[in-house]
Amino acid sequence: MSTMKVSKWSINTQILLGAVLGILAGAYAHHLGQQSSLVQNGVYLASMVGGVFIDLLKMLLVPLVFCSITVGIANLSQHQQAQRVWQSTLIFFFATMAIAIVIGMTGMHLFKPGAGLSTAMFSDAMQQFNANRMSVSEFITSFLHQLFINPFAALAQGHVLAIVIFSLFFGIALVLGGERYQSLRTVMQEGLEIVMRMVSWVMHLAPLGIAALLFKLLAQQDLTVLSVLGNFVVLVMAMTLLHGVVVLPAILYLFTGKHALWFWQGAREALVTAFATSSSAATLPVTLRCTTQHLHVKPEIAGFVVPLGATVNMDGTALYEAAAALFIANLMGLDLSFTQQLIVFLVSMIAAIGAPGLPSAGMVTMVMVLQSVGLPAEAIAILLPVDRLLDTLRTTVNVEGDMVGSLVVQKLTSQR
Ligand code: ASP
Repeated sequence: MSTMKVSKWSINTQILLGAVLGILAGAYAHHLGQQSSLVQNGVYLASMVGGVFIDLLKMLLVPLVFCSITVGIANLSQHQQAQRVWQSTLIFFFATMAIAIVIGMTGMHLFKPGAGLSTAMFSDAMQQFNANRMSVSEFITSFLHQLFINPFAALAQGHVLAIVIFSLFFGIALVLGGERYQSLRTVMQEGLEIVMRMVSWVMHLAPLGIAALLFKLLAQQDLTVLSVLGNFVVLVMAMTLLHGVVVLPAILYLFTGKHALWFWQGAREALVTAFATSSSAATLPVTLRCTTQHLHVKPEIAGFVVPLGATVNMDGTALYEAAAALFIANLMGLDLSFTQQLIVFLVSMIAAIGAPGLPSAGMVTMVMVLQSVGLPAEAIAILLPVDRLLDTLRTTVNVEGDMVGSLVVQKLTSQR
């Protein structure tokens, strides 16, 4: 028992150390410049190591989502809890995303970053950028279309949302079948345990993988754009932090009485992994591990809330989509009417729900938010150079929201 505890702590510490070393080495590489052969070799090596780490997580992602949701829903339905869990989860997701968007829009109104800049300054970048246009109705149609896919194709191609939906059906069918399918239920349960065991192996590579990813990010970040868009970047980061450090912990405390420090201690493996990978989907195996093993959420609740949240619940992304639309409107010297702002609010939420948990996925769905109020889709070319940097923090808050959600849902559904 005690050796397990020692190794758990040491991986946590190693991950933090890896993150700090990656950031320091990346900043130094940035200082040396990308022409230096030392930096080029370093970036090549970091891409390889970071890539393998992400690939390993993605390898486990699909079997994990399938097993955890099926087992979770089967166990919940057995205790007649499924409906309450399902309802509280959705209410939590929508409410926290709405709060995040309100924070984003309020911050933009208060500080108005972008004053003094204009889209004309970026016209070259905008002309070169070919936006993939999609109206809100087309987006909703294609989103709905992604929900129900042949499960073998979904599993093979890693369509997480479609796997979530199929697993829900599968889990429900398993329960309705009763005793007859007991052995299949046991197989799924054991499958889940085996995948989680493999996740713990991959975690041994996490410190190195995270150091490599952060090194590469900093070594390659273009600072000239940052100096132009500095105010906007700082404001978005501050608002995202406000949501992650104040709002979500306050909600957690209000509903469960748990303190932020306790939460961060249990959640940090997942938070640092999300920061470094910028992918809620790739982080999912780690999120599930932290939620069940460190935060002590029942596997049947975490197994349902976390995988669903990884694709649907994105507070950081929702905040960013709305803030970025208002920023572009500022650059164009447009004052959006109240109705237009309401549209930004709603479409940002749809865009965040529809964005898959992948790096910069929010940028793709952002086109829709811009178009919904008549802003040029090409304007996202202005934001692309800083997106990778902003994606770190918003993915971290996206993942934090899923973990806080599991704890809140567990509390809400255990009262009766
Ligand atoms: N990278 C984000 C995530 O995986 C999605 C996004 O906002 O781009 O959660």
